Amino acid sequence: MKPNYYDKFRCTADRCGFTCCQQWKIAVDGETRARWGKVEPSLCNAVEEKEGEHIIALNENRRCPFLEETGLCGLVLRYGDEMLPETCDIFPREIHDFGAFREYALVSCCPAVIDLMYGEESISLTDVRNAGDYGEQAVLSEVRRLMLDWMEREENSPNKNLLMIFYLLLDLYEKDELCLEQLSAYRETGFWEELSAAVDGAVTDLLDSFTERNELFLDLSENYRREGLYREYLEEIGEVAGKFSERCDREKLCEALSQFEQAFLSYRKLVRRFLWSELYSETLPPGGDLEDMLIAVQWLAMEYAAIRHAVFCAWLGQREESGGQMPLPYETVRQYMTVVSRMTGYDDEDIRAYLENSFERLIWDWGYFALITY
Ligand code: SF4
Repeated sequence: MKPNYYDKFRCTADRCGFTCCQQWKIAVDGETRARWGKVEPSLCNAVEEKEGEHIIALNENRRCPFLEETGLCGLVLRYGDEMLPETCDIFPREIHDFGAFREYALVSCCPAVIDLMYGEESISLTDVRNAGDYGEQAVLSEVRRLMLDWMEREENSPNKNLLMIFYLLLDLYEKDELCLEQLSAYRETGFWEELSAAVDGAVTDLLDSFTERNELFLDLSENYRREGLYREYLEEIGEVAGKFSERCDREKLCEALSQFEQAFLSYRKLVRRFLWSELYSETLPPGGDLEDMLIAVQWLAMEYAAIRHAVFCAWLGQREESGGQMPLPYETVRQYMTVVSRMTGYDDEDIRAYLENSFERLIWDWGYFALITY
């Protein structure tokens, strides 16, 4: 099963403005190290061991030492694709095995993937499987299907759909047992309408939401900024974010926020697709349970909150420079979708540790989710 745009992906290589061959951990698997040892042992000098993992030792510019000035990979140029570590060979694809079949996805850390999502006529999944094919995860596969269906509903904003999805998960989480029959109640029009009205009735203060997203963004980006990672993307907006405080002119800020939301609205289709794609690829890991799904959706809400905030700060900076009305360029939205996706690309254990250390409870209440998502 895969998204309909999956096979269209092509790495733009030397034309990529945000290469993945920099500023993060590039794992080198055992088979690749053995191959390098046989063909050209000096290649292994580019590998270091950190926290039990073998990774590429980045150079002083935090780039892969095999990345050439031209933006092409020296390993591929000299030895061919077969010398690539599995990580580089697969990226930005993600593969999940469920016994007899596979799910393929494209992750949002690559600008070419965002371009694909943006440009497609419509998005959908091909070769959709039945719940029974997922064995013990049959019910969860249907919960994910429900989430994807809800995210696609265009009568609501993507934000509102995400809020309704989190409500659904919390409701299921409270049940002693889950079965397929229970899910049909959530598909009824009456349930949808009631929930939709309840979400509309929830009151969230614009500035409280903004302040919380600002805190989240500063917290998520702190380590990256301290280590000088993604400097060209984080430094300026980090300064903008650092200046917001209680003493800000609330009226001016509200005006800027509503102007921004208007401009951001023109990317509603892309945002919906981005969230849809993350729900598809991240919420049903093989062997995962409902709690893992809830945590994945919370993490997605954090990622989305940080993207929105980063785009807002970048837009505000551009607006101040231009001295007036400022449209929101697609490149800015794409830039921060990819940067924040890389910044939040933690593994499951690290996500749990982050949530446990930063919040009172591992599973949030709906109000907090709404605060950062509105
Ligand atoms: S980020 Fe995407 S397009 Fe850019 S070099 Fe990596 S795989 Fe290619």
